[in-house]
Amino acid sequence: MLWRWRNTIMRFMQGRYGTDKLNGFLFWTYLVIWVVGLLFRGDIVSRVLSLVATLIAVVVLYRTLSRNIPRRQAENERFLRLWTPIGGWFRRQFLRVRDIRRWRYRKCPRCSANLRLPIKRGRRTVTCARCNSQFKAFFL
Ligand SMILES: [Zn+2]
Repeated sequence: MLWRWRNTIMRFMQGRYGTDKLNGFLFWTYLVIWVVGLLFRGDIVSRVLSLVATLIAVVVLYRTLSRNIPRRQAENERFLRLWTPIGGWFRRQFLRVRDIRRWRYRKCPRCSANLRLPIKRGRRTVTCARCNSQFKAFFL
């Protein structure tokens, strides 16, 4: 029974795009908007948010079931070009906070590599692990 269902779904998805990073991002956006909508329950804001969430869900469904695969791939690539630097920035901020007791992060002024440095308080000279240049940095 379960096997037949799986088979039916697989046949249905054949030649369709499926999911990608953009859909994943849209899905998370959908969840966030949905949760924020709960905070405004009964308000006009909640109705607007639920409309936006529904639109996003429709887009995700449409992209997943779409047969125009090259077009969906192009959309995903455009999204990744935009998102990769932003996502990287968020990731670095997260690491900064997570490691605050053990490491400090500094950017090399010459090659702009992100350096993870042990905490030694005060002003000191740092050697970049990538380009070997030295620069002064202050550590709180
Ligand atoms: Zn460097």
